[in-house]
Amino acid sequence: MDVENVLNMNAGEGETSYANNSIHQRQAITKVRAIMEDAVKNAVSMTTFPTCIQVADLGCSSGPNTFLVISEIVDTVHGIYQQTNNKSPELQVFLNDLPGNDFNTVFKSLPAFYKKLKEEKGDFGPCFVSGLAGSFYGRLFPSQSLHFVHSSNSLHWLSQVPNGLSNNKANVFIAKSSPPSVFKAYKEQFRRDFSKFLRSRAVEIMPGGHMLLTFLGRSALDPTTNDCCKMAELLSKSLLDLVAQGIVKEGDVDSFNLPLYRPFKGEVREIIDNEGSFNIEKLETFEVDWDNSDTSEDDQYCVSGQNVAKWIRAGTEPMLATHFGAGTAMDSLFARFAQHVAEHLCIEKTADFYIVLSMTKK
Ligand code: SAH
Repeated sequence: MDVENVLNMNAGEGETSYANNSIHQRQAITKVRAIMEDAVKNAVSMTTFPTCIQVADLGCSSGPNTFLVISEIVDTVHGIYQQTNNKSPELQVFLNDLPGNDFNTVFKSLPAFYKKLKEEKGDFGPCFVSGLAGSFYGRLFPSQSLHFVHSSNSLHWLSQVPNGLSNNKANVFIAKSSPPSVFKAYKEQFRRDFSKFLRSRAVEIMPGGHMLLTFLGRSALDPTTNDCCKMAELLSKSLLDLVAQGIVKEGDVDSFNLPLYRPFKGEVREIIDNEGSFNIEKLETFEVDWDNSDTSEDDQYCVSGQNVAKWIRAGTEPMLATHFGAGTAMDSLFARFAQHVAEHLCIEKTADFYIVLSMTKK
């Protein structure tokens, strides 16, 4: 799988778009707000209140979430400069994602963003937002040019499907039935990717600059707990339903694996310590329910199943459609998936497990 070209969220602002189906991910951003405020404050005070602050949101996708992040950064910067009687700084914001990301939708939202900024923070800025296409597993910025780097809901995506997964048949991710070599291959790929990410940012962030990363992880060392592999298990099950219906080929399910990993907290700490360029200020975890819409209707689990299917579809459809075929295959897949999620949630409430990491560049 050519991950850099197929790993996109659904484009546009239509019914199945990421822009319209990312409330789940938005909750993760909201939960770390206080940690982000601290990180931004530290970044500007440790770099002696620069007159132009350079920040980046890595893996910005399209839709309101990246603008929420920028607004929170603006709020914090505005507040701390006022409190300390410093002249309001200029802000340069780079929104980064892979080249196939729907940057057009991001750019179309800019005039409304600038207008709101002017209404709410008249004298602030100016704020200059630009798009930057490229993989965050390599260099994106000049040396020592950034004060603050943010990334949410992105670093669990790997740069490639790990090699050596040919014996992970009928599973699209680590599953209870996967041989141990499958877990090892995923773990190693994450270690390589996350190390490359840190090495690149270590060059680009200036000493005293900060980085705030929020991404999916798992609650236990064991990679087969529900918060790690249940979602993918239900996706595998749905694909096998389509095999039984003759919509999808069995071989196509056998050969597909998600380029995704959910690390345990300890693994993340070890990789950061080994790389050596960052001090960890905070390494915390929290959960976001798969669905917390509070309907008291009889069909609550059906509604929840559909809600979960919507945000999972928005985040995986381009990749799945490239492998299994677009159109009917995707409609059938996510209809089956919604049903399996509903049946699962009926038995057990399940949450995504998140890791949030605040770090200073040494
Ligand atoms: N930050 C937003 C969007 C997260 S969706 C939010 O919190 O809602 C994850 C995004 O990460 C996708 O748009 C995907 O294309 C991007 N992404 C994944 N791997 C990437 C990489 N190697 N380099 C840059 N972006 C990447």
